[in-house]
Amino acid sequence: MIIGVPKEIKISENRVGMTEAGVRQYVGEGHTVLVEKDAGVGSGITNEQYEKAGAKIIDSKKEVYAKADMIQKVKEPLPDEYELMKENQIIYTYLHLAAEPKLTKVLCERKVKAIAYETIQLENGSLPLLTPMSEVAGRMATQIGAFYLQKDHGGKGILLGGVTGVKPGKVTIIGGGVVGTNAAKMAVGLGASVTILDVSTARLEYLDDIFQGRCMTLFSNPKNIEESVRESDLVIGGVLITGHKAPTLVSKEMVSSMAKGSVVVDVAVDQGGCIETCRPTSHTNPTYEVDGVIHYCVPNMPGVAPRTSTYALTNVTTKYGLMLANMGVEDAVAKSPALLKGLNVYNGYVCYEPVAKDLHMEY
Ligand code: NAD
Repeated sequence: MIIGVPKEIKISENRVGMTEAGVRQYVGEGHTVLVEKDAGVGSGITNEQYEKAGAKIIDSKKEVYAKADMIQKVKEPLPDEYELMKENQIIYTYLHLAAEPKLTKVLCERKVKAIAYETIQLENGSLPLLTPMSEVAGRMATQIGAFYLQKDHGGKGILLGGVTGVKPGKVTIIGGGVVGTNAAKMAVGLGASVTILDVSTARLEYLDDIFQGRCMTLFSNPKNIEESVRESDLVIGGVLITGHKAPTLVSKEMVSSMAKGSVVVDVAVDQGGCIETCRPTSHTNPTYEVDGVIHYCVPNMPGVAPRTSTYALTNVTTKYGLMLANMGVEDAVAKSPALLKGLNVYNGYVCYEPVAKDLHMEY
């Protein structure tokens, strides 16, 4: 199979869909890998390194799409790429379609076979291709919150960890999955006072166990969210109901009840966000204010930590990508129930139930 790796075009997206190590694996199994010129530069991978691993460097994005049977990338195709996708081409990338009705329609119209990294799901419910980016984004969320809480960045002017004789900052994390746990690790490490809310009691038990009393766990319901948000300096949104649009858990009124100069970081913005006042921003203009509360809602947070993120991503995408390349979509999804869950669009139809339901589309 011919696998194409285009350069990402989303703002400040420095990741790339395949490292030179990934190229070696595909080429080793008899495939051809076409990498768009300079696609890896943002992640510190040169054209020469790709060539040494066995890839062919292609000057234009158009040619990569035209020649490839499978496109392996990072973020969803953007409007400039819509026309480039061809019938029956495999599009293997993050898609987050429940929050993207226009893209979903385009993928159906182009009759591509679209596999979404974020819905590939193992029997135990875990999401192996989302996990590493959620680790990155969760850890970044606390760093970013701490940054914007500084007075010179518009915040109320507190150190999350406090100092001797002065109270630490309060952090509320909604959703105690991978994002939430990693955000909590960083916040606890800084010395903040941390509360995590989740609807899964099993998850709360796990968190209680690993944090050994260093952060408070609370069942997620409107009352607990309202009280915890009101008292917090930093609120981090990290909920997910796999494949679905995120539920709105923090209302505009709750945001308004926070002290001016507080910060919210809605990591779940890629699935529509769990904070009512959240709207997607970009790395070039990442924040805005609502009632004096700073909002950071960037849907591709790991894009600015590419040297960590690209390698973490290829570590997990290669296994399923090789199955697609070796067997084709039909045989690969027949063999792997995990990969079947990743198949979101096929033959002009949405074939992943949560997306079809949220977008009211034929399934
Ligand atoms: P996860 O499945 O590991 O965790 C989600 C958690 O949310 C689960 O523990 C679940 O029980 C909990 N939850 C569900 N409903 C809830 C509710 N009503 N109240 C409280 N908790 C609830 O998911 P994850 O990997 O941590 O990802 C979280 C979100 O972050 C996803 O939308 C993911 O796409 C997104 N994400 C964004 C970026 C970015 O750059 N912005 C990067 C990576 C991940």
